[in-house]
Amino acid sequence: MNNITIIGGGLAGCEAAFQIAIKGLSVRLYEMRPHIMTGAHRSGNLGELVCSSSLKSNSPSTAHGLLKEEMRTMGSIILDCAAKASVPGGDALCVDREKFGKLVTQVIESNPNIEVIRQEITDIPLDRPCVIATGPLTSPALADSIKQLTGANHLHFFDAIAPSVDSESIDYGKCFRQSRYDKGEAAYINCPMTHEEYEAFIDALVGARIANLHLEEEKNARYFEGCLPVEVIAKRGRDTLTFGTMKPVGLTDPHTGRRPHAVVQLRQENADGTVYGLVGFQTQLRQSEQDRVFRMIPGLEHAEFVQYGAVHRNTYIDSPNVLTSALHTKLDKGLFFAGQMVGVEGYMESAASGIVAGINASRIATGQSVVVPPKETIIGALLDYIANCPIDDFQPMNSNFGILPPILEKHPKKMRKELKVERARKAMREFSELSWGSAPNPARDSVS
Ligand SMILES: Cc1cc2nc3c(=O)[nH]c(=O)nc-3n(C[C@H](O)[C@H](O)[C@H](O)COP(=O)(O)OP(=O)(O)OC[C@H]3O[C@@H](n4cnc5c(N)ncnc54)[C@H](O)[C@@H]3O)c2cc1C
Repeated sequence: MNNITIIGGGLAGCEAAFQIAIKGLSVRLYEMRPHIMTGAHRSGNLGELVCSSSLKSNSPSTAHGLLKEEMRTMGSIILDCAAKASVPGGDALCVDREKFGKLVTQVIESNPNIEVIRQEITDIPLDRPCVIATGPLTSPALADSIKQLTGANHLHFFDAIAPSVDSESIDYGKCFRQSRYDKGEAAYINCPMTHEEYEAFIDALVGARIANLHLEEEKNARYFEGCLPVEVIAKRGRDTLTFGTMKPVGLTDPHTGRRPHAVVQLRQENADGTVYGLVGFQTQLRQSEQDRVFRMIPGLEHAEFVQYGAVHRNTYIDSPNVLTSALHTKLDKGLFFAGQMVGVEGYMESAASGIVAGINASRIATGQSVVVPPKETIIGALLDYIANCPIDDFQPMNSNFGILPPILEKHPKKMRKELKVERARKAMREFSELSWGSAPNPARDSVS
């Protein structure tokens, strides 16, 4: 029987193991807990949720709900356990964390095709296929080994995420396209500020509340010069931002014919141009404060944030340079990565990538070609983003409607999300039928 190695028994590793096991292949799943713990896990349970007990919205009219629908179609064991451990959460799928972790542990450990080995792996094994799913808190020894594989520039230890907005929510009447000194294409959208607007913005920024941080390293992360949050720079001096992130040099506002006092630059973040990031605006502000403060930026008054800014500990690969959208490395078809470390952000996004890595590892083990859901689906769009994101400073992404390709026909804005949902459902149905002849849910009856 083919043996597939998985390292990491978190959300992604368990999904991958289950997908392989239900195809009749055998899995060796290495998990270092409880012998060696991370800074956030509290138990030896597989699939432990390290923080919130909410798996976010279950409603298919939201991107998170659509992601779950797609995961169920692909046979998610994590969502099967979540359903059995759910507690009232309104629109959100919330779970009893303890019960959830125990259920995941039970269903994985009792599967006859899965051998769970409680051991830290310190080097990337030579066995193939192999799936590495050791998460944002990968142990330092294994992180070193991954760094040797990817090169030091292609493994990151901190997220310093700047917020991104849906391009349709930008007020283009107030902004203008131009690169500083007109160098290259007019790649940036500039949100110009007058002196008064800048002063009011700085007051709001330095007075805004910071998010609750999880780990000691996160609290100290602000002292890493390379990923200084914008509010920390602002606190160094009222005008400091006008000499760096918000400097207006080489720019002329066509509305006034003059150089603005300051600008916020937005840069395209995906190939379709549906998502724009606020350049240099990595932040530790609470999400509600980001809504309040960043909507003071001219042109962003009605911005829909597809991703909020954050700074936290996170080991992740520079996927566009290292991985394909099938989740194996560009140089080795037998070596897969999955979970948060591929640059997806969130419990469900991590689990979803585990499903795809598991399916593809088992296909490689049985001599078949790999499959990737189309990019009209949320899962496919996430995988497309991590493998093909065009920007240099690759940052993790969660599921949102902004990463789906635009609806090209003219429709009222409020209908476009519905159309994206319908298109995603159709694409997932066709993908399932093409890939394995039906839309299976093999997880459905697997937990007693
Ligand atoms: C502090 C913190 C809080 C977070 N809170 C949330 C939240 O509230 N909501 C949300 O959606 N997302 C949150 N995330 C982000 C992310 O969704 C979770 O980290 C998620 O668990 C990632 O899933 P994963 O499978 O990639 O990694 P994990 O679930 O962390 O699984 C990785 C597993 O690999 C094991 N491991 C690590 N190194 C080795 C090794 N060398 N050998 C063997 N085993 C190893 C670990 O013990 C762990 O069990 C948080 C992340 C962090 C760091």
